[in-house]
Amino acid sequence: DVEPDEDGDEENRRKRSKDVSLIAGHYNARPDVGTKQRLQSPIIGLKAFNNWVKAVLIGRFAHTALRDSPWADGKYGGGRGGKVLDLGCGKGGDLTKWAKAAVAEYVGLDIAAVSIEQARSRHAQMHPSSRFPAFFAAADCYNLPISTVVPESILSSPSRPPSDRPNDGPEVFDVVSMQFCMHYAFENETKARTMLDNVSRYLRRGGVFIGTIPNADLMLQRLLSLPPDAPPRFGNSVYTIQFDDRRPKEQRPVFGDRYSFFLTDAVENVPEYVVIWEQFVRLAKEYNLHEVYKREFHEVFQENQKDAEFGPLMVRMKVVDKNGESHMDEDQWEAANIYIAFAFEKR
Ligand code: SAM
Repeated sequence: DVEPDEDGDEENRRKRSKDVSLIAGHYNARPDVGTKQRLQSPIIGLKAFNNWVKAVLIGRFAHTALRDSPWADGKYGGGRGGKVLDLGCGKGGDLTKWAKAAVAEYVGLDIAAVSIEQARSRHAQMHPSSRFPAFFAAADCYNLPISTVVPESILSSPSRPPSDRPNDGPEVFDVVSMQFCMHYAFENETKARTMLDNVSRYLRRGGVFIGTIPNADLMLQRLLSLPPDAPPRFGNSVYTIQFDDRRPKEQRPVFGDRYSFFLTDAVENVPEYVVIWEQFVRLAKEYNLHEVYKREFHEVFQENQKDAEFGPLMVRMKVVDKNGESHMDEDQWEAANIYIAFAFEKR
């Protein structure tokens, strides 16, 4: 996997392509353990909470976009509507959530080929009544246009007029989802732009782009509140974040601001990149994507815990027990807030 060498620095180029293989290798090597073993994870409460946040995001933003889809015409029966593009879909952990959203068609792409195989077999094992047509492929979505792997038959839309915008393809998808993966694209500007082009090009106007990424402001706040002589590292019993230095936000590069992330039973010191929210919003605007929602995970909890739909869902998804007691300890709860959830609308 050879990446474009933007700054002509051979060593940096080698470091970067090593990062990409490290990331793909890491996710490929993580076993798909099945439901029973998943329940024994030491961070089972945190995993359930992250899943619930994704379900809330899908419920709050994707449901409407799918329902209002020009394709929600009953063609698929059972009131199915809309098409979803899941970039960095991993092992297909959100397939059931998309089934509940009555998606008509799903495209899942991920750089980790082993994960894609697991997603494919998870899809094949879904109950026929909730299974939807799906296409999966292994692809580096931050280096190549998705049209190199997604067939023309999916990316064309005879029912819609061709776009009058130079950088837009046909309006195919109602929702694009990037869960816990977009930050890997912020290694350099070319990758971030390729990623955003892939998000926006086939997303219809009025369609939504939803995702979850680490909370840069919170991480930098933690970093800067460390005692002056302490190493640039913080965390607790379930996670560790290690930076190379402790420069304040204003002095940090927009792209390639690398740190190392460790999360018990999930992520083992994988290189990740800081996403400065304001910079991301500015860049997304160039791709006609406009911010409509940004919340810390703790805020998502506070806003939705008593909701008629998402409150009871917390019990079903094992975030809390029947008495409302959380399955997360303090350290997991702190780790949960490393992330933010977002939604953009294509205009
Ligand atoms: N979205 C899934 C979920 O929520 O369960 C998986 C999240 S996992 C933490 C991050 C995923 O991003 C991994 O599956 C990884 O392979 C994928 N990824 C990283 N870089 C990528 C790239 N350049 N193109 C596509 N996927 C990538």
